[in-house]
Amino acid sequence: EGRVEFHHVGFTYDEGTEAETKVLEDVSFVAQPGETIALVGPTGAGKTTIVNLISRFYDIQKGNISIDGYDLTDVTINSLRRQMGVMTQDNFIFHGTVRENIMYGKLDATEEEMIAAAKAVNAHDFIMKLENGYDTELKARGAGLSIGQRQLIAFARTMISMPKVLILDEATSSIDTHTEMLVQQGIQALLKGRTSFVIAHRLSTIKNADRIFVINHGGIQESGNHNELMQKK
Ligand code: ADP
Ligand code: ADP
Repeated sequence: EGRVEFHHVGFTYDEGTEAETKVLEDVSFVAQPGETIALVGPTGAGKTTIVNLISRFYDIQKGNISIDGYDLTDVTINSLRRQMGVMTQDNFIFHGTVRENIMYGKLDATEEEMIAAAKAVNAHDFIMKLENGYDTELKARGAGLSIGQRQLIAFARTMISMPKVLILDEATSSIDTHTEMLVQQGIQALLKGRTSFVIAHRLSTIKNADRIFVINHGGIQESGNHNELMQKK
């Protein structure tokens, strides 16, 4: 469960205009179920574009992407979001309560179901802390939250959803040091046994990844684990 395949995927921003930018030329790979793939490479190389295609945040222009053999263009966005957890810098927060935001995709869940879901991933204390830490105003209006608070909510949401595929942009710079530690522990638990794509900034993530993709010049320039890539140098 959670096998992700790219076949000759290409992507161009603003195609056919003066601003046209070809970012991905011809990207092919198979991510095995449970594999953690670290995406590294220079700014502007196309790492974010790759993960935005997997999450269907962008439409696929050229080539095919599939999850467990199902072509992504045949899968509805809603069913895709049930299988996929996405944590990016601009996390999706809507004008609901903190709890509603955490329970995104499970809005009809009862209080008991939410507590059970939280306990199943050892996130119960984390989520209670999160909820109780906000004043009434913030509790009522998720959209008024700081970037760091949004990241924590997105993290709690991802934990609860127990996704098959996890997408993580590691630039969690807005989280304070203490919370950062909490989140890092949770992230390690989330990565285990789950196909994951991490836009990696931390050396520890890069070292622990099953495979590293060096993204550059429109494609995967090099791939291998940390030891393999170090030997090539
Ligand atoms: P990375 O994540 O590796 O830094 P991105 O995938 O964000 O790279 O960006 C790849 C290239 O696409 C960059 O040259 C960037 O300027 C361009 N780009 C990214 N987003 C857009 C956009 N919305 N419109 C036009 N160009 C974009
Ligand atoms: P809408 O169609 O409602 O505008 P978008 O596809 O534009 O939704 O996505 C809105 C936000 O949701 C984006 O910031 C995106 O990063 C985030 N997002 C996309 N996929 C997921 C997901 N599977 N889980 C959580 N957030 C997601």
